[in-house]
Amino acid sequence: MKSTTSDFLLFQSVVEWSAQFNTLPWRQKRTPYTTLISEMMLQQTTVGTVVSRFLPFIKKFPTLEHLAHSSEEEVLKQWQGLGYYSRAKRLHKMAPLLFDLFNRSSSHPLLSELLGIKGIGDYTAKAILCIGYNENYLPIDANIERILQRFYGILAPSLLHLKKILNTSFEEKKILPFWKIIGPQNLAEGLMDLGREICKKTKPQCFSCPLKQNCEAYNKNQFEQGWENKSLKKIKISLVRLISISLSSKNHTPSYFLKEKTKGKWLIGQYEIPTFALSSWGREEEYPLLPSFLEPIILPKISQAPTYNTTITQFLFQNSLIFLPPETIRKLEGSFLDPSSVAITSATQKALQLSPQLSLRKPDSIFKNNTGN
Ligand code: SF4
Repeated sequence: MKSTTSDFLLFQSVVEWSAQFNTLPWRQKRTPYTTLISEMMLQQTTVGTVVSRFLPFIKKFPTLEHLAHSSEEEVLKQWQGLGYYSRAKRLHKMAPLLFDLFNRSSSHPLLSELLGIKGIGDYTAKAILCIGYNENYLPIDANIERILQRFYGILAPSLLHLKKILNTSFEEKKILPFWKIIGPQNLAEGLMDLGREICKKTKPQCFSCPLKQNCEAYNKNQFEQGWENKSLKKIKISLVRLISISLSSKNHTPSYFLKEKTKGKWLIGQYEIPTFALSSWGREEEYPLLPSFLEPIILPKISQAPTYNTTITQFLFQNSLIFLPPETIRKLEGSFLDPSSVAITSATQKALQLSPQLSLRKPDSIFKNNTGN
């Protein structure tokens, strides 16, 4: 592992190359607070999705103080579309503690103080210090990890070992000794951009990479280290999702039959349309088998139903969407609610987007039985 003066120039050119992404909304006015929000959103959600959700969130909660005084429900609602709602709950819980810490710190909080707040891990703490405060910390996300492993040609028996090697090497200035000189904020963001756009996990586009001149992986044509986690093979499960609309007799606002996901279940606190498995799959506490009284109504319609796929952990759900009239669906647990008033799961959002198509298919059957709220 070596660092040369030319490495410095190459990494500096990464910053110049990444200036094209400075239009990303969270880079317009960088603060520790906007860093916290964007980094929490970008964990497990694509840049494209976060671009559309970041500014509405900041508009609703312009400062950490606003967020610290909000209710969990408000935060969950504003998190809609980003998925993985446990992040929103963590954010809501940590906001008052962070507000207090940021206010107490004369320049910036210490790494140990940030790590002392429940819900803040090593990556988020270092991202706040590096990107939010431009301090000399290296937040190692999957993109930065991959670039550094390839650039320096680091061999490690596991991902965990690689992270340790990177952290130690950074502290000992064996890698990126120019981090502070180039600028922690700019360089971290530049590397994140590079990992996303060019040094991708599969098929890195080395021909257009600013680092290729000194990149070990490129020069040795050796990209795989053999220890990378092979992605888990997804288990396919067939689900049926039941949609039912009720129109208010006053203003004809539609409400949908929804049920809250309760403690011990995936996506706790969010609302979902009734969903059932079509065969036993070992996780019936999440999605139980279709009740027998619904089988004669649902099963003949399955082959004609609109379908879409969703995933949770190692499960790939193939969802069939079926309309049910209110008097039938009321036999299930749940109630008619305005979906804009609660946090709904992304699978249910997809179902609601498809519901106008359902109404085009069967307009009479959808509305003739509605009895209002
Ligand atoms: S040259 Fe290729 S492998 Fe090396 S950092 Fe650039 S994209 Fe990644």
